[in-house]
Amino acid sequence: QLELRDIRKTYPGALDETLKGINIDIASGEFLTLVGPSGCGKSTLMNSIAGLESITGGSIVVEGKDISTMEPKDRDIAMVFQSYALYPTMSVRENIAFGLKIRGMPKDEIQQEVERVADLLQISALLDKKPARLSGGQQQRVAMGRALARRPKIYLFDEPLSNLDAKLRVEMRTEIKKLHQRLKTTIVYVTHDQIEAMTLADRIAVLKDGELQQLGTPKEVYDTPENLFVAGFMGSPS
Ligand code: ATP
Ligand code: MG
Repeated sequence: QLELRDIRKTYPGALDETLKGINIDIASGEFLTLVGPSGCGKSTLMNSIAGLESITGGSIVVEGKDISTMEPKDRDIAMVFQSYALYPTMSVRENIAFGLKIRGMPKDEIQQEVERVADLLQISALLDKKPARLSGGQQQRVAMGRALARRPKIYLFDEPLSNLDAKLRVEMRTEIKKLHQRLKTTIVYVTHDQIEAMTLADRIAVLKDGELQQLGTPKEVYDTPENLFVAGFMGSPS
């Protein structure tokens, strides 16, 4: 459903390519986690898929259609960032509704959709609060709610749980897994937590210096790493 074909990215003024030809085919409904050391290009790849960065080579294809040059808003993709950037002056309800409003959804439908998502994420009691009054975990749920309300074909999560404490992270991990089973959507999920990557994923993509090192099921990547880097990074037994 989502095909990354030889994706290349060189930032203006940079000497080196940040993404050096990434090829991944992601099936409809698949949960793909993307891991790799800091600076290896994970966010660059996510931002490129979302259309927030332009690529300098290759193409991004969704259901047979090349979307590489489409505006972010025209791609049927929602992204949740590491820093969740809620609109501070808007209530939780308005934050979740915002994307639907600018797409011209009628008011009563927006209302229904906000309540559905709030229920799913257990934030119904927070709908009339301002983001600054919420805990980190609650803010992260709202950010997720904003993405879920849009019901896109594809979700991109860039370290959505990185600001949470360990206990909440494990709880949210379970929630995300349940959400995926319920919604059956395609998810690409970046994390620096190997356990999280292995519990959530149908397949894991391991990235290093802008190059794909291995792509496989958690078991394949862990049990039969293709090189020393993957073995070391995934903590495979030697
Ligand atoms: P982390 O795990 O720390 O989030 P990452 O894998 O997401 O790292 P990226 O943010 O994609 O890494 O960065 C990859 C490389 O591209 C880094 O060397 C970074 O300095 C560079 N880079 C990222 N954004 C820009 C930008 N806007 N302009 C120039 N270089 C950038
Ligand atoms: Mg990043």
